[in-house]
Amino acid sequence: MAKNEWSKPSEKLMEKTHHLMHDGFHQRVIPDSIYGLPEALGDARWTDELIASTWYMAETGECPPHLNYKTGRSGGGFDRLEFKELPEGQQLSPETDVDISLTLNRRGDDRRQIKIDLPWYGGGMSYGSVSVNVMMSRALNAKNWNTLMSTGEGGYPPQLYECKENVITQVATGYFGVEEKSIQAAPIIEFKYAQGAKPGLGGHLLASKAGDEVAAMRGSVPFVSLFSPFPFHSTYSVEDHMKHLDWIKTVNPTALMSVKVSTPHDVDMVAVGSYYAGAHIVHLDGAFGGTGAAPEIAKKNIAMPIELAIPKVHKFMIKEGIRDNVTIIASGGIRTADDMAKAIALGADGCVLGTSDLVAMGCTRCSNCEGGPSGRGCPWGLTTTDAELQEWVQQAWGAERLNKYYAALSNRMKEILRNLGLSDVGQLRGRTDLLRYIAGGEA
Ligand code: SF4
Repeated sequence: MAKNEWSKPSEKLMEKTHHLMHDGFHQRVIPDSIYGLPEALGDARWTDELIASTWYMAETGECPPHLNYKTGRSGGGFDRLEFKELPEGQQLSPETDVDISLTLNRRGDDRRQIKIDLPWYGGGMSYGSVSVNVMMSRALNAKNWNTLMSTGEGGYPPQLYECKENVITQVATGYFGVEEKSIQAAPIIEFKYAQGAKPGLGGHLLASKAGDEVAAMRGSVPFVSLFSPFPFHSTYSVEDHMKHLDWIKTVNPTALMSVKVSTPHDVDMVAVGSYYAGAHIVHLDGAFGGTGAAPEIAKKNIAMPIELAIPKVHKFMIKEGIRDNVTIIASGGIRTADDMAKAIALGADGCVLGTSDLVAMGCTRCSNCEGGPSGRGCPWGLTTTDAELQEWVQQAWGAERLNKYYAALSNRMKEILRNLGLSDVGQLRGRTDLLRYIAGGEA
């Protein structure tokens, strides 16, 4: 198909979309048992049950009664950890108020004091990798929950300014779409040095997804492949890194600085260097994250799993005497409220969700994000900017799915804390003594 043949949504598709959205099919209404789910759905990390339970939560705002919404079947990492809950009777009552808010500026400087109402926010997914409708769904939801989402590296679509207090502007190695205006609008600027799903490989947007609007936003030529190199070619030391942050601090005198890094074996040194360069947030991105566009071989073989990286960084920062001056955020394969609570118990302050947001909006984990057989991107209108396909996700619909999904996650996070006898998510940080490792079925 020639590139311009799908530039306008057809009447037929619009009619079909409207119909499906109102007859409930596209709502991914699912039974509360696993029976009837397609056998091919999911994999060991994102199992059929996890996908179905995420849809259930996005549909109802509650955790499903008969599906495993806590863990996958990977046989490792978070899937081998469980909580040492207090016996019933010693747990906090369901009426106990539990504080799950998260303070992001711990440096004690005169920049913004930002506190979000949840111990997680939405990770970067660029315009080009996803549509404006998906970005706006996430931004509206972030505004609703007083949390954040990141633009990723693809520029700042004008509609996002409506939610600017809840949108992180990302500056990454290709500098795509980096503008003074979007830097000045943001409460937090995120420097992306690498992604845990593909460290050392940079980013690649296929030509078929870099249409007219995407190319205009990125300052490039339509339908030409776009590469974000690895690393920043201007940064090879902590001093270079500090110059980078100083540049942005000059452009925006109040924003917090977040530094997103992958998890090499010396990630503890990288994290401490980032703190001394001026970061308020050190964002660790482990293996197993990324959409279906990240190569499987890279996801499984390069970066350190986030379950190992978090305690390594947490302990090293304690040793350096700086742990309480910085916020550690973890991402990369974090799928559920239970995963997030485990990451915090391992030493993180909070987490970032990316794929989970997409699954809540209908992603089936089919791995066709890069283009699929049609070359047009995600058949469910998520990781695509195709003019017809993106109509599958309407902003209000996407925001409502995420709103309900976050409600279910928030309730489950509070339940975990109450069952551990904690009234504040900050009390869970670094409490590895509250976790139990399951080996061969034995605790
Ligand atoms: S449903 Fe869409 S977003 Fe999900 S894996 Fe498939 S192509 Fe990617």
